[in-house]
Amino acid sequence: MGCQMNERDSETVAGILHCLGYQPAQTPAEADFIALNTCAVRAKPEHKVFSKLGELRRIKQERPQTIIAVLGCVAQVAAQEIARRAPYVDIIIGPRNYAQLAQAIKTVQRTSAPNDPVIVTDSHKTIPEALPVRRTTPVSAFVNVTYGCNNFCTYCVVPYARGREQSRPVQEIVAEVEQAVAEGYKEVTLLGQNVNSYGSGAGQGCPSPTVMSQEEGYGFADLLAEVSRVEELERIRFTTSHPKDISVSLLAAIAGLPNVCEHLHLPIQAGDDEVLARMGRGYTYEQYRHLVEAARERIPGLSITTDVMVGFPGETEEQFHNTLRAFEEIRFDQAFMFKYSDRPGTRAAEMPDKVPEAVKQARLEQLVALQNETARQINQKLVGKSFEVLVAGADAKSPGKVRGRTRTNRLVIFPGQERLIGKLVQVQTQEAYLWGFLGEIAAQS
Ligand code: SAH
Ligand code: SF4
Repeated sequence: MGCQMNERDSETVAGILHCLGYQPAQTPAEADFIALNTCAVRAKPEHKVFSKLGELRRIKQERPQTIIAVLGCVAQVAAQEIARRAPYVDIIIGPRNYAQLAQAIKTVQRTSAPNDPVIVTDSHKTIPEALPVRRTTPVSAFVNVTYGCNNFCTYCVVPYARGREQSRPVQEIVAEVEQAVAEGYKEVTLLGQNVNSYGSGAGQGCPSPTVMSQEEGYGFADLLAEVSRVEELERIRFTTSHPKDISVSLLAAIAGLPNVCEHLHLPIQAGDDEVLARMGRGYTYEQYRHLVEAARERIPGLSITTDVMVGFPGETEEQFHNTLRAFEEIRFDQAFMFKYSDRPGTRAAEMPDKVPEAVKQARLEQLVALQNETARQINQKLVGKSFEVLVAGADAKSPGKVRGRTRTNRLVIFPGQERLIGKLVQVQTQEAYLWGFLGEIAAQS
């Protein structure tokens, strides 16, 4: 469940399980080990964890030797609640503790009688390097550059679930990218809650193995330059960029480094200054807009995507309209739009004037309608143009067609054979949709 970071963590867990001799099972009912990697960022995915655990209870009753583990952000922030509501869970491990997973499995295997779960949610201090990985993503290899977050936006559970920000040493990142390229990946996605603060989190209560303290002034733009030198790496993506930390040198790096894709995921969260201040985001709408203008000026063909929330506590109709206006002005290529939900332990959860669910729903629908119209118009203007597409796989719904993404992360489906998978192909777009394009091969590069 959840974000790309969870997906990358699941690949580590798969690597650890492989080393322990486990093989993938066809169905949960046949498995000896079942893990849920959970997301706590909103109320909905957290509820999903408990309903999934309800389903797993039956499996545990039929096959008591099956080990059930809860991993990820819900494990970190709600370990006791999981243990209480699902006492048949054997292992509860937070996202910074997977180095202890193998040990936890062995402990459970040693004790055959039902027991209290093994709970490991304590260590936020070190970055475990050299854990095994079994990659499952088809096209883009996920590579962490920072762990955790120090921003404490008032609505957000991430700093509690994933701990303080720490940057991985440059050489570890480059080595992982090289390894991914050796495995056949042409594209990597560098991951962090706030990649733009790369290098600045070290030293804040985190001892070695980070090396940032010796490299003062070294930032994300420098890291991009370093990664871009990896041979045969065609594309570099990265997410997420926090607007308050974007530097001119980062814009220059995107513009100047040929394998860095022209795409910024730049969460705006709201278009109203008062709401932004209460969210603790550290920028005004005007500053955000200027940043977008500067980025578009410097980087031709840039696509800008965003995250936004409606119904933050105290959000008035007028403040919501400022968000609508911001969307009209900026015209995002794509947006992930959410209804705010209380996260226990955050400051926003304690704020007064909660927005009723029906109002949140209506605002979300209004914003989605506006954004969909914008995306349709933007895509329509791109019909007939030729794009470099990295082919990800066959299109399950249309035989004889393959699908892939442009450098700006737009989906394109076109007639092609499976031998194109993993290749870069020039494709001319023919029809625009909300989701992307239908196209035809122009010329192979
Ligand atoms: N680090 C990223 C965001 C990570 S969480 C950043 O700073 O932008 C992913 C998205 O979930 C956020 O951008 C936000 O839009 C949404 N989100 C976070 N907390 C939320 C909450 N309490 N309710 C609803 N959406 C939330
Ligand atoms: Fe959450 Fe803000 Fe950190 Fe993003 S920057 S993970 S929204 S606290």
